[in-house]
Amino acid sequence: MRMNRRDFLKTSALSAVGASAFPIRSWALSRAGVFTPIRRGVGTFAGRGGTIGWLISDGALVLVDSQFPESAEECLTGIRERSTRSIDLLINSHHHGDHTSGNGVLGAETTNILAHRNVPVLQRASAQRRGNLDGQVYADLLYDASWSRDIGDEVVRLKYYGNAHTGGDSVIHFEKADVAHLGDLVFNRRPPYIDLPGGSSTEGWIDVVEKIHADFSDETVFIYGHAHPSFGITGTRDDLLAQADFLSALIEYVEGGIKDGKSSEELLVDHLPGVEKHYSDNNVGGIHRCIRTVFSELSQ
Ligand SMILES: [Zn+2]
Repeated sequence: MRMNRRDFLKTSALSAVGASAFPIRSWALSRAGVFTPIRRGVGTFAGRGGTIGWLISDGALVLVDSQFPESAEECLTGIRERSTRSIDLLINSHHHGDHTSGNGVLGAETTNILAHRNVPVLQRASAQRRGNLDGQVYADLLYDASWSRDIGDEVVRLKYYGNAHTGGDSVIHFEKADVAHLGDLVFNRRPPYIDLPGGSSTEGWIDVVEKIHADFSDETVFIYGHAHPSFGITGTRDDLLAQADFLSALIEYVEGGIKDGKSSEELLVDHLPGVEKHYSDNNVGGIHRCIRTVFSELSQ
């Protein structure tokens, strides 16, 4: 079922010639954002910012995350080509701006925005720090440990596993499709954004992805907020262990440096020992930021 983005774009280009043969894939042609079906009415929209997940069926229209206003508009246009339903539910996987800034656009089409209880609090605090309180639209349907509802012929289930990428990350499972949106719990082979004021815990993050790995199967398709260009924004649970391996290597490396009395600047390397392969050709600045952040996390 898995198709990486580059293959998909190739297929889309082909379908420009024979568009009628690929009616779904041809959605992508008229705009920058790309719709990719996964299975049983669930798929992804890659525009600008964290990957949007969607469930589109006769009895359901559910969206996970809202990117930015412009790409949310693009996403909505594509959805309107597929469904005349009003949006049953918009979910925010967590509070970061590249997942919630389109809430005003997509939230206007639905009665509720659902998220973990900590999300509006973290979003407001972050907006305050950044001086952009005015533009914020917040989730208003909140849960603590887990939440589920039958929507159309799908069961949508959310679970909070504890502090990880932020203090309010949800795993959103479309149970019958067996597709789970992980928000930014996996940066697929990309240096992750560790956000200490936003509730990140690097140790907690390792624990959380290992628990998720145990809770799902090899059949589950996972959706990731972000991915290295060579890897997909969807994948299997092996990617969760790759995420855990990177974070473990990061902690081990920085811990060793602190023990040796080094400063964070002395610790900056372009490739982390043990996980060079997955990160070496991409975003050295991201690795440096990870080292600096975990240094300050471990020094607290
Ligand atoms: Zn994030």
